[in-house]
Amino acid sequence: MCVGCRERANASSLIRVVAVEGRVIPDPPRRLPGRGAHVHPAKQCLDRAERSKALSRALRVVGKLDVSALREAVDVSLARPFPAPAGDERHRRGSSVERTGSSRMNTP
Ligand SMILES: [Zn+2]
Repeated sequence: MCVGCRERANASSLIRVVAVEGRVIPDPPRRLPGRGAHVHPAKQCLDRAERSKALSRALRVVGKLDVSALREAVDVSLARPFPAPAGDERHRRGSSVERTGSSRMNTP
């Protein structure tokens, strides 16, 4: 669920974030330990999550959260399609195998 608009969404369309020392750190590979929250990589969701304190609540942070790193990540992700790096890699690997297989078939 997105902590901004509170809509259910596929995990791959959301960005995982964790709080490290009061800073919200984007964690698209989902590798960082600790309590995470998910939000759409969209400015309006980020703004809502911050304003409604849903992000602090989700991350169990008391006090002020620094979301500048996450804002930057959202800006970058808006410039190009947002990742899901693991799935993307798997997809690419799968299609290259397919391509190799079919090219072998086409050129006997
Ligand atoms: Zn959202």
